[in-house]
Amino acid sequence: MKAKKKAYREANKEQQAAYYEANKEKLAAARNVRVQCPCGCWLSKHSLLRHQRSQTHIDTMTTMEAATLQAPPAEAAAAEH
Ligand SMILES: [Zn+2]
Repeated sequence: MKAKKKAYREANKEQQAAYYEANKEKLAAARNVRVQCPCGCWLSKHSLLRHQRSQTHIDTMTTMEAATLQAPPAEAAAAEH
C-alpha cells in the first residue's frame, strides 16, 4: 500500500514537471500579470484570490468602507465659499 502510494506520488511528480516544462513561459507570464485589488494593493493575478481572503485585505476594505460611509468632510463644503 505504502509503496503504491509512493509510486503514484512519483508518477504525479513527473507529470507535474512535464506540465511545468511544457507551459513554463505561459505560467511565468501569468505570474507576472499585475492587477490592482479594490483595496489598493498591486498583486499578481495568481495571488489575488488568496490576498482577498487575507486579513490585510479585509481590514483595509473595512477601513475604506467606514471612511466612505462617514459624512463628507466639512473642509470640502468650506472650500466652496
Ligand atoms: Zn486587497
